[in-house]
Amino acid sequence: MNSKKAVLVLAAIVLACAALMLIRGAMTSENKIAAVYLDGKVIREIELDKLTEPIEFDITENGNTNRVRAERGRIRMISADCPDKVCVNQGWIDNGAVPIVCLPHKITIEIKGGSPELDAVAGGV
Ligand SMILES: [Zn+2]
Repeated sequence: MNSKKAVLVLAAIVLACAALMLIRGAMTSENKIAAVYLDGKVIREIELDKLTEPIEFDITENGNTNRVRAERGRIRMISADCPDKVCVNQGWIDNGAVPIVCLPHKITIEIKGGSPELDAVAGGV
């Protein structure tokens, strides 16, 4: 009886911890913004952490098309009619380390924000 109770308590603690971590993960969302540049100019900004469902949109310029898909916290190029497909092959990015670059179409997607300093600033506003 006692050991059974102990197991239940343990399970409850584990569950509580897991729930807490999930909540924490959601709370400390990093305020990530994906900026889409075309020829060096920002044409679109997406607040990745505020997306509740995936979005897709096309970037069309000079007959070129790149299709972008953004989900909560990450973004990628899902298709493009550029010759090298480097941008598509790069897959998802979820931080500012490496931007997605489509050289032939002069498109860059980079993620800004997500640092603790920026979080503090955003929290104060
Ligand atoms: Zn490309």
